[in-house]
Amino acid sequence: MGATDALGVVAKSDETSRTAMAPRPNEGRLSVQHVGKIYDPRGARVVAVQDASIEIEPGDFVAIVGPSGCGKSTLMNIIAGFDNVTEGQVLLDNQPLATVNMPPKPGSDRVVVFQNGALFPWKTVLENVMYGPVIQHMMTHAQAEERAMDLLAKCGGLDKVAACYPPQLSSGMQRRVEIVRALINEPKILLLDEPFRAMDTVSKTVMHQHLLEMYRVCRKTIVFITHDLEEAIYLADKVVVMTSRPGTIKSIIHVNLPRPRTPNMMLGAEYLALKAQAIAGVHEEAKKAFERGEREHA
Ligand code: ADP
Repeated sequence: MGATDALGVVAKSDETSRTAMAPRPNEGRLSVQHVGKIYDPRGARVVAVQDASIEIEPGDFVAIVGPSGCGKSTLMNIIAGFDNVTEGQVLLDNQPLATVNMPPKPGSDRVVVFQNGALFPWKTVLENVMYGPVIQHMMTHAQAEERAMDLLAKCGGLDKVAACYPPQLSSGMQRRVEIVRALINEPKILLLDEPFRAMDTVSKTVMHQHLLEMYRVCRKTIVFITHDLEEAIYLADKVVVMTSRPGTIKSIIHVNLPRPRTPNMMLGAEYLALKAQAIAGVHEEAKKAFERGEREHA
């Protein structure tokens, strides 16, 4: 093999290691089985979710979309263990996570990142990331520091801002730090509740690339709630479209776009066909909700 060939091979394998997905994890299988949720504040009986079933494989990236008020957050709160079910059950790795008779049970195996930041402004980035495992006695201070710096570095070079305080960072960077803070707990499931909702289109696009890179490097099961169809298709392996209230599963769109995902894929025929399919589903539901006089729509 000549020198040029040899260099070519090196360059290619180097490129592969920079773009290959981390292997599928063994844990993080989520099974939502015929879940129903009725809120009954003072007898008002709001059927928020009805007969919802979703199967999620370990390491899958799943987006849940649907018109506002269709029960996306309700479903996420049930998976996170913040609320109970009134029908059906949710299993995590074949173990009951939520059943009718179980009180809600949050746990560090499911971490939620919300759209409004929750970093401690008086702690540095590094201290924020280390906080969880240290306070829960999962790691010593030194172990947590090493792990935090390693994760920050892997997740787009955030180690460079380890000594900064959150208010010194852009909101996008704060959100990335929050995701790293979630990842240090080694959750089986990462729940993202419209994390980029308040961002402008350009910042969102940048955040998508960062999130995809974090997903590539530290692969976990991700459940991503959004009302933005384009972001759902661009990021996810499966897009779960919910009906308007009571929220049921209207359809599941399988996104077979290759990874790594790149913004130019959003111009391709395959992406546009998936988008058309999702728009048709969500808008039909938004129209129904609108006709019933419910609030804003996707
Ligand atoms: P989404 O996240 O899709 O916007 P939600 O899950 O927040 O929808 O809400 C689903 C429905 O349940 C809505 O009609 C909402 O008003 C109702 N709801 C949510 N939380 C409660 C609650 N704690 N008590 C009564 N109704 C609720």
